[in-house]
Amino acid sequence: MTTARASKVLISGASIAGPALVHWLARAGVDVTVVERAPELREGGHNIDVRGAGREVLRRMGLEEDVLAHTTGEEGTRFLDERGRVLGEFPASTSQTGGPTAEVEVLRGRLSRLLVDSCEGLPGRVQWRFGDQVAEVHDRLGGDDDASGVDVVLASGVRERFDVVVVAEGLRSRTRQQVFGGDRSAHVKELGAYCAYLTVPREPTDDRYWTWQVLGRGRSAHLRPDDEGTTRGLLTFLSDVPGLDELEPRAAALVVQRLYAGTGPIGERLTAALDTEPFYFEALGQAVLPRWSKGRVVLAGDAAHCASPVSGMSTTLALVGAYVLAGELTRPGAPVPQALEAYERTLRPLVDAAQKLPPGTPRIGNPRHTAEIRVLGALVSAASSRPVQRLRLGERLISPPADAVDLPEHAHLR
Ligand SMILES: Cc1cc2nc3c(=O)[nH]c(=O)nc-3n(C[C@H](O)[C@H](O)[C@H](O)COP(=O)(O)OP(=O)(O)OC[C@H]3O[C@@H](n4cnc5c(N)ncnc54)[C@H](O)[C@@H]3O)c2cc1C
Repeated sequence: MTTARASKVLISGASIAGPALVHWLARAGVDVTVVERAPELREGGHNIDVRGAGREVLRRMGLEEDVLAHTTGEEGTRFLDERGRVLGEFPASTSQTGGPTAEVEVLRGRLSRLLVDSCEGLPGRVQWRFGDQVAEVHDRLGGDDDASGVDVVLASGVRERFDVVVVAEGLRSRTRQQVFGGDRSAHVKELGAYCAYLTVPREPTDDRYWTWQVLGRGRSAHLRPDDEGTTRGLLTFLSDVPGLDELEPRAAALVVQRLYAGTGPIGERLTAALDTEPFYFEALGQAVLPRWSKGRVVLAGDAAHCASPVSGMSTTLALVGAYVLAGELTRPGAPVPQALEAYERTLRPLVDAAQKLPPGTPRIGNPRHTAEIRVLGALVSAASSRPVQRLRLGERLISPPADAVDLPEHAHLR
């Protein structure tokens, strides 16, 4: 006898992919338990882009208007050289797909909150368990008869059986490690760069542009507007030294401060703030796996297919993937294994396209030598010149493939 569909699902991770999936599953009447390691919803993070098919998914969720009411108001992107001279600037995109500043730029924490709130009052029962995480996963039989399921033990001691377990724990997922094997870097293609994200008080000189200053030696410093009266700062640098993101925050701050010493007002303003403001520090990478599921455990969002922040696509992929996965898991009469195969078949082409970063990325935006700075300067000033902007070449050059998917209708989710 075959199991018609998943009716009880565990999701690990409550950021973007997790809550988006909860929304769609609960809408179809599935009972969902969510475990999130953090003690409460993590509302930090910076401006993220929602493009193309990702925006269509928000529309189908009924959230497009709410998100558009909370965009960061970023008006474009401006590149500066190491002495603060403007290399070129791009106005925000008016298309749903292209340009460095996308039409929908929203704070990550805000989007996460909107997604979580959208899960209220849906037919499926939803339980949120913050401050807990998966300790053990035992996939029983791994097949498709009625006795199969996944026995899960949580760190809190709770034991329960689920039809499906979804791992939406981000790029360096621990449960993925447990189920698919390897250490924290297994299945990660490292990009040789680090990012420190923080929020700083707004200063009168901060405008509505994303300021991207290249500082040489593989470093850049960024200021971005938000809709909360503060400014979002970002320090990105190239480094092949592994594991800096595992340092204690104080030690990581010291490394970054030393690297940016003497780089001028933006770099020094942001590194000084590392002493007082909380910051999020990560090594950039992409998740690369030959399969996204093993038995009844399936990966979603960055845990499956992180394309990295430099792609501008990870959030779009997380939203589209959640919709596709929920649609397959709740398709009437669809057994779980076939549902997981269909999810992967539909989403892979979009992921493959999104993970193909523009040539030279992330190095091109973080030049090391004067010659590389000149090349970037020439490219930016050509692409942002009036005649070329009229052709919208800049937008076309920096156009993530956000529509490279045939979004299924999934009428049963509507
Ligand atoms: C705090 C934070 C800030 C971010 N800021 C930015 C940003 O500024 N710019 C950008 O481009 N991207 C940022 N990202 C990444 C961005 O959210 C993702 O690339 C994208 O939206 C896909 O989201 P995701 O839900 O798949 O993964 P993620 O957003 O990485 O979320 C994974 C979630 O799983 C939780 N988790 C991890 N391990 C476990 C575990 N063992 N058990 C239970 N829960 C676990 C994490 O706490 C987190 O809430 C940020 C992510 C986080 C968590």
